[in-house]
Amino acid sequence: MNKKRVYTFGNGKAEGQANMKNLLGGKGANLAEMNLIGVPVPPGFTITTEVCSEYYELGRDKVVSLLQEDVKNAIANIEQLMNATFGDIENPLLVSVRSGARASMPGMMDTILNLGLNDDVVEGLIRKTNNPRFAWDSYRRFVQMYGDVVLGMKPVNKEDIDPFEEIIEELKEERGVKLDNELSVDDLKLLVSKFKKAVKNQTGHDFPTSAYDQLWGAICAVFDSWMNDRAILYRKMEGIPAEWGTAVNVQAMVFGNMGETSATGVCFSRDAGSGEDLFNGEYLINAQGEDVVAGIRTPQQITKVGSQRWAELACVSEEERLAKYPSMEEAMPSIYAELDALQTKLENHYKDMQDMEFTVQEGKLWFLQTRNGKRTGFAMVKIAMDLLREGMIDEKTALLRVEPNKLDELLHPVFDKKALKVASVIAKGLPASPGAATGQIVFFADDAAEWHAKGHKVIMVRIETSPEDLAGMAVAQGILTARGGMTSHAAVVARGMGKCCVSGAGALKIDYKNKTIQVGDLVLKEGDYISLNGSNGEVYLGQIQTKEAELSDDFRELMTLADKYTKLKVRTNADTPCDAQIARNFGAVGIGLCRTEHMFFEGEKIKAMREMILSEDTEGRVKALSKILPYQQADFKGIFRAMDGCPVTVRLLDPPLHEFVPHDLKGQEDMAAMMGVSVKKIQERVESLSEQNPMLGHRGCRLGNTYPEITEMQTLAILGAALELKAEGIHTYPEIMVPLIGNVVEFQQQEAVIRKTAEKLFAEKGDSIEFTVGTMIEVPRAALTADKVASSAEFFSFGTNDLTQMTFGYSRDDIASFLPVYLDKKILQVDPFQVLDQEGVGQLVRMATEKGRSIRPDLKCGICGEHGGEPSSVKFCHRVGLNYVSCSPFRVPIARLAAAQAAIEEA
Ligand code: PEP
Ligand code: MG
Repeated sequence: MNKKRVYTFGNGKAEGQANMKNLLGGKGANLAEMNLIGVPVPPGFTITTEVCSEYYELGRDKVVSLLQEDVKNAIANIEQLMNATFGDIENPLLVSVRSGARASMPGMMDTILNLGLNDDVVEGLIRKTNNPRFAWDSYRRFVQMYGDVVLGMKPVNKEDIDPFEEIIEELKEERGVKLDNELSVDDLKLLVSKFKKAVKNQTGHDFPTSAYDQLWGAICAVFDSWMNDRAILYRKMEGIPAEWGTAVNVQAMVFGNMGETSATGVCFSRDAGSGEDLFNGEYLINAQGEDVVAGIRTPQQITKVGSQRWAELACVSEEERLAKYPSMEEAMPSIYAELDALQTKLENHYKDMQDMEFTVQEGKLWFLQTRNGKRTGFAMVKIAMDLLREGMIDEKTALLRVEPNKLDELLHPVFDKKALKVASVIAKGLPASPGAATGQIVFFADDAAEWHAKGHKVIMVRIETSPEDLAGMAVAQGILTARGGMTSHAAVVARGMGKCCVSGAGALKIDYKNKTIQVGDLVLKEGDYISLNGSNGEVYLGQIQTKEAELSDDFRELMTLADKYTKLKVRTNADTPCDAQIARNFGAVGIGLCRTEHMFFEGEKIKAMREMILSEDTEGRVKALSKILPYQQADFKGIFRAMDGCPVTVRLLDPPLHEFVPHDLKGQEDMAAMMGVSVKKIQERVESLSEQNPMLGHRGCRLGNTYPEITEMQTLAILGAALELKAEGIHTYPEIMVPLIGNVVEFQQQEAVIRKTAEKLFAEKGDSIEFTVGTMIEVPRAALTADKVASSAEFFSFGTNDLTQMTFGYSRDDIASFLPVYLDKKILQVDPFQVLDQEGVGQLVRMATEKGRSIRPDLKCGICGEHGGEPSSVKFCHRVGLNYVSCSPFRVPIARLAAAQAAIEEA
């Protein structure tokens, strides 16, 4: 059987329907569906998305011949329903030709209206409508659009003005008028002839006069527009595959510019910004679609309430509003009533907020389009919960309607939309930690603290951050780095703090000495204002107003609902009682990773820590560790208290020691004085600690295995804190975690130290605490030998930051130097430090879980790498059967929702 390439619709009948989006595109499928449910739609037909792929495979001529007969028949169907003939001089039918992909790509591809006009047909249109202005206006718009889209009459350079606009501007100047609609009918006629002359001059061909030639030109131009730069870029941003192709919709034209009983507009069944259940939109009397969006005339509101709200904002008096800008409800009450009834019908039918386009032609209402409306994160949550309460959708559907990542908009400050529109982007980095921040540039942690203390809002700018910058990061509005990936220190810490961060903005040349940033020709200095968007990685010049996040009741209800369906638990990565508390408030049921090293950077602690590292022998280390012990124990107490009753996984010291030592002379002198040795001695020790490849060097369990006294101290601090709290009646469930093992013996020796220390402590105190000892799986060898590891380890926690680093062999701190090229060349689809590589790294996670549970069936497995808060990775963890994911506090709600969706999608 011949493949069906063309689907017709009109007059309450359609060959397609709503569930055929893949074949007919979103617009085509909905046009068909609207016909089937009795919404008035101008008749037409849809050429399928498969034909778009054929177009790129077989070429234009072949595709036109394949379509010839079907398109002729479909046009005949429209002619019959509209009682007019395509290309006819007496009673002409005009059509529109529009793109329509599977996923909405607003404004990315091309549209042609009023197709079918020529010098003779325009006369027929005048006779038919008795409206020469309308006919010539339609004709000049058509020639311009067709010239632009099909004949390539676009400006050559972006500075050049559109060749047609140039002609219009010239004529308006000659006539001394400002607006297009002030031109006379003769002027419009003149425009058409000038336009056609310009076409001949630029292309060497006459403007096509045959309606069918015009039609084929337009259909092919829509297919061509699938591959225009705008569309390619949009697909890349939205992750839409090029293979999907676009459909082409050809439809009878209806006109909103046929006088005072005609109009055109767009409307939404609910408010896309606030989610409020309020029908709203804009319209214009005697206008064509593009006039509403072009900004030439001020569009009017559809409802009276909307109109009054608009007038208040625009400082327009009620009198003036009624006289000049009445709502459709007031100006065209019966059409309004019909529109309102149909928008309700469409929303009830699609069970979601609709974004609709309509035209009124001489008192008759037509719908041109309906689709599920785009909305803000706030509106997304409100609409889903409202529809649930209204009984339109069930709980599972409500949960699936909410995009986990968009919850970020509710949790962090955002930019004021109007202010953002005029902001200029000076650089782009990785969206390391979401939110919006605006403030003055500072480069050093102590400057940040000083400026902050004086009441300034600052943005901390660094080439890359290290733990030494923590205090500055804590007081900054946001953090910007020139180097570093999504799991770099800056990114991880900022996410933990819920602070906006853009990392790896490679275009920035940061000069610490002169306290300047150079980007291209622009030089910014300390104190200049910049703004950061941590959700898309953009850096803007100057101050942009931000709006604080507000958690709504709807949000809370949504989260409670998520828990009803979730199997996967959500824990948090937290190192301070404050972070732990935030995460608990967001619904975390435990800590999956407490990075103990983050505790060492405040006040006196760093000194004791440095003393321990700089000591040359065990005795010196033990002495310094005894100073650290009370600090650590107090910190653990704070965290355990905040997590009362929830499990807390504490990881033993992990980072390379070199990160902690003083690199500045003043710091080195202080340490020398404190330890009673020469500065030179300190410098030698600092030098000896530096490594070629610190991430693969003396870190993780290698520290505890070479200096067991560190592990002993940390065990005492953890269990000592738990014992003290036990006495206060607070329950703790410590899980002690050994990092970075690759060999089971590395784990076993650490475990022996922990257990021995515990036994001694419990005997001393005459009391005990239940605890477990487990390990991180973050070295590929640990995953490969997971069965052996599980014979000793009581739990696994996948450290997918290091596991990704070691599986790909990409340094997590240096990936920003080549990632953009890799993404551009499609060597990578996404940053593997953001989105778990399910095929490679994920395979290790799956395998290690299976191997581990083959030895220890109840082995508790979780993930604590940054992927634990990324929706597609969370869903993967659910499918693999992990017990929990752990992520930074502000990502807890995102993970909870993604986990619920994973469970629903699986069922
Ligand atoms: C990891 O490697 O995934 C992890 C959580 O540890 P860190 O990021 O501290 O190396
Ligand atoms: Mg790690």
